[in-house]
Amino acid sequence: MTTTSDPARGEARGWCCEVCGAEGTGRQFGTLHAHWGEGSQHAGEQYRLRLCELCFFQTLAHLRREHDVQHLFDDEGMADPERFGRIEVTTVEEPAAAKRVGMLRDQLGPIPEDFDALGSDEIRQRFEGSEDTSED
Ligand SMILES: [Zn+2]
Repeated sequence: MTTTSDPARGEARGWCCEVCGAEGTGRQFGTLHAHWGEGSQHAGEQYRLRLCELCFFQTLAHLRREHDVQHLFDDEGMADPERFGRIEVTTVEEPAAAKRVGMLRDQLGPIPEDFDALGSDEIRQRFEGSEDTSED
């Protein structure tokens, strides 16, 4: 496989189909991927083939035909050629970020004059070291 950046993130600037050798750029490729886990015959092995559009859909058509043969006489029947292996992606709108600044306005009592200086004496003592070591 030839890549010029991280293929897992779909950022490849240039790539080469591993079946026919066609070259492309960007997200004009499909990926056949497997990472076999514990209990499988190929446990620990990983596979990833980058395919051009033509090779990807030829592979998909082959798998769909195999599916149809495997299910020829059962209730599942033939695969829908438009939907076999296809994932429907829906975009979920993220709710607008809640406004945080000013959300407690008029809900708090008066803010003390020394609000920014609260605990300043203790903080200063801890930085500068206190002669009183009874707390530690
Ligand atoms: Zn190809």
